[in-house]
Amino acid sequence: MPVSAPHLPGSPSPLDRPPAGLLTDAPLRRALDASDNAIVMSNSARLVVYINEGFTRLFGFRPQEVLGRHLSEVLLGPHSDPGLLADIRSGMHTEGSFHTETLLYSRAGAPRWVSMMINASDEASGGPGGSITVLTDITLTKMHEVLQKRVLEGMVNELPLADLMALVCHEVERIAPEVTASILAVDEQGLLRPLAAPGLPPAICQALDGLPIGPRAGSCGTAAFRGIPVAVNDIATDPLWDDYRALFAPSGVRACWSSPICDHTGKVVGTFAFYFREPRGPDALHYRLVGVCLHLCALAIERNATQQRIHRLAFFDGLTGLPNRAMFLSSAGRTLAGLRQDGRPGALLFVDLDRFKQVNDTQGHAAGDALLCEVARRLTQCLRARDLIGRLAGDEFVLLLSECATEEAVQAAHRMLEEMSRPMDIHGQAHVCHASIGIAMFPDDGDAIETLLRHADQAMAQAKSDHRHSLQLFSAEMNRRAQERAALERALRQALAERRLTLHYQPQVLGEAPGTLHGVEALARWRHPEWGMVPPSRFIPVAEESGLIHELTLWLLDEACAQLSAWRAAGHHVPCVAVNLSGRSFHQADLAQQVCDALRRHGLRADDVLLEITESVMMDARPVTLANIEALHGKGFRLSLDDFGTGYSSLSYLHRLPISELKLDMAFVQDLTTSPTARALTVSVLSIAHSLGMVVVAEGVETTGQQQWLQAHGCPVMQGYLFGKPLPPDELEAWLCAQAARPR
Ligand code: C2E
Ligand code: CA
Ligand code: CA
Repeated sequence: MPVSAPHLPGSPSPLDRPPAGLLTDAPLRRALDASDNAIVMSNSARLVVYINEGFTRLFGFRPQEVLGRHLSEVLLGPHSDPGLLADIRSGMHTEGSFHTETLLYSRAGAPRWVSMMINASDEASGGPGGSITVLTDITLTKMHEVLQKRVLEGMVNELPLADLMALVCHEVERIAPEVTASILAVDEQGLLRPLAAPGLPPAICQALDGLPIGPRAGSCGTAAFRGIPVAVNDIATDPLWDDYRALFAPSGVRACWSSPICDHTGKVVGTFAFYFREPRGPDALHYRLVGVCLHLCALAIERNATQQRIHRLAFFDGLTGLPNRAMFLSSAGRTLAGLRQDGRPGALLFVDLDRFKQVNDTQGHAAGDALLCEVARRLTQCLRARDLIGRLAGDEFVLLLSECATEEAVQAAHRMLEEMSRPMDIHGQAHVCHASIGIAMFPDDGDAIETLLRHADQAMAQAKSDHRHSLQLFSAEMNRRAQERAALERALRQALAERRLTLHYQPQVLGEAPGTLHGVEALARWRHPEWGMVPPSRFIPVAEESGLIHELTLWLLDEACAQLSAWRAAGHHVPCVAVNLSGRSFHQADLAQQVCDALRRHGLRADDVLLEITESVMMDARPVTLANIEALHGKGFRLSLDDFGTGYSSLSYLHRLPISELKLDMAFVQDLTTSPTARALTVSVLSIAHSLGMVVVAEGVETTGQQQWLQAHGCPVMQGYLFGKPLPPDELEAWLCAQAARPR
């Protein structure tokens, strides 16, 4: 043991007379020897004159090795506090006593944390200037404290798990120098994954990585397998080590004691092993050390697993395992930075499946999920190592191809379309998956990942609307249209919030008496402060796509009801108002109630309004849509089928659903005078409707020729510029007055 400490002050003197009284008092001496504390008496020259047996038990020194020496020469070691002697000196000088907790070393060099209490005592040393020192072993508490503090500090500072575990090993080896420690994790598959073994040759750790736990898998693999500690006192002979002996032979390791590390549920997540260089088992200190370390290791390993899980949840899509939007964006940002630096191009591909919703709706979500996973797999297969892929949402995937020019990107996209259209087996059913791909090139179509994404998305939307299962390169024109569309949506949102939309009303007149009002159709109008009138054919689709349509519908329903009661209150005879409902409104579970509420607010009854729906509502097999149709019918509302003849025109729906009116599309009406087919179809529509008890409204009647033909063929109701354009409320009132004044 190095002797670096200076002598305590006081002139060196020969060994003082032993404190005669104490040494001769046998019962007192036995009592002192029985104490677990180490007790030391020093004379005025600070030389040891007495140690009890507790001292020998704690530090391993026998009296003849200590007596007559300075205590500091004997007990100070490599990590002892260098300021200790100065502290003692000043403490004794001012207080006559001194107390501290400090690190000393045993004869074998083992560290011992002790509580040290020194008191001046003339009696003890048999003369003035003597002292009595009591040393209490607090190694265990300190071990706890030091290990815990350092490991917890490491966790707070986000040290990687391997570093934390190496720290534990180092601390343990410092406290018990005869030990080489190792910590292995056990993964979900039951394979060993070395975390730290700073004292073992790296080659051993590499060889251990991925080995399975089992009933005869060395000390660690077996301890993990059994879930209890395994002590192999002699590796040379223990059969548990048969498969490992050769691997460890060059390391000189002769014994190994391994304890399982369990998480809070009791599951084995790792092992903590002590290796020895001679055949032996663990001793009391080792048990204590392991006791302290196991829960620290468990804490660190579990915390790491939780962090990894959080990371996976935060950055990966749970279904396909692909990076999610956040992860893709950050990786893509880095990739683009690299490309920018090297002046190389890249391509962003935006992939969107065609009619994916149908798979979900008709085959169920499990099939939809399976399809997405298969698509993810096939797309991933098309990538090179330097490319990135991510799943943005639902059926949208994005890929960033590095160092890729336009032609290559187009080729890659074709390959992907081809790859995806190979039949897939989804839950035993063959499925052919089609997709639309939009491509934006870096840096030509955008420098930032957000811009590229937006542009590739626009190109994808174009591909989808042109003809599905195709690809499209981004163009500036596309961007212009998309920006217009976005501006329109913003303005519409604002107009709706500020109630700046209005309704015009178009008269519907009786076929046999065109001066008599059948009803009016409410049509939305929007005058933008800068753009002027925006036609409904432009803003209604935007409202539908952006989810504003239901709000718009409820507003105009309320407005139309208010207008109808106002007219009636003013004595105008308006039999009913027809309101256009979007198919999307039928996805609102409480549509029927909302319609009822609007009428009730204005004191109207169900037959005061006609609800115009399109064929898409009839074709919609969603339970909520059917329930709404039934509920509205049940409450006495009449449904009118708009644009009849333009869509699927499946006549079978007509008698299955409670439709009371058909609106013959104006395309037929306008062809009446020129096309025999239009005439034939109109005749049959009129006769079918008649036999089903439905009213027919012919739309878009512009000429007296059309009117006369329709009248001659018994068309009950007509609507068109011939009778009146859609008019603001006051002009409609004027129209009503003019009709009333007309000679019959
Ligand atoms: P729609 O429901 O078929 O409405 C009839 C359209 O034909 C109206 O166009 C009307 O102005 C026009 N029209 C009426 N008579 C004639 C005619 O003799 N000749 C010609 N060429 N056109 C005539 P508008 O108001 O531009 O509305 C277009 C479409 O926008 C509507 O077609 C409807 O689908 C939709 N729409 C309008 N207002 C609303 C609304 O409040 N809600 C919903 N969901 N859709 C609406
Ligand atoms: Ca309509
Ligand atoms: Ca129509």
